[in-house]
Amino acid sequence: MDLLEKDYLVIVQCDIVKQRCPGYLCEKAFHERTGGFADYPADKQYRVINITCGGCCGRALHRKLTLLKRTLKKKEGIEKDKIIVQLSSCITKDNYHAPPCPHKDHLKALIEKIGIDYREDTEINEKSEQRRSEGVYKSE
Ligand code: SF4
Ligand code: SF4
Repeated sequence: MDLLEKDYLVIVQCDIVKQRCPGYLCEKAFHERTGGFADYPADKQYRVINITCGGCCGRALHRKLTLLKRTLKKKEGIEKDKIIVQLSSCITKDNYHAPPCPHKDHLKALIEKIGIDYREDTEINEKSEQRRSEGVYKSE
């Protein structure tokens, strides 16, 4: 997938985690094009929106993304192939707080059903990566 072709970034975060987390480290990773955002061209401007999965089991994500897709098309003519979803690291990775989302595959299936491209990870913490490589945290 060519990230130069994308214009609209949707960062999807864990609803439970977001009850506490403001999402700063996701924002910082995107701003600095690090972690899961390292492949995004630094000199391209993206529209960015942050949403949560809506809570376990994440089924509301389908409704949220479907409405977003429809609204972007209706209001601005933005097609779905211009949208990219980035699943936050608290969904995709084992870390200090918790194991990855137990419904991760379900979330991916929902996004695939809508036909929007997605990628995994946002902020990648160095210490957590080290612990994953040491097997303290599971890497998958
Ligand atoms: S990846 Fe980190 S900063 Fe982003 S929403 Fe999850 S816990 Fe918060
Ligand atoms: S479905 Fe996964 S990402 Fe959503 S609230 Fe539950 S654990 Fe978090």
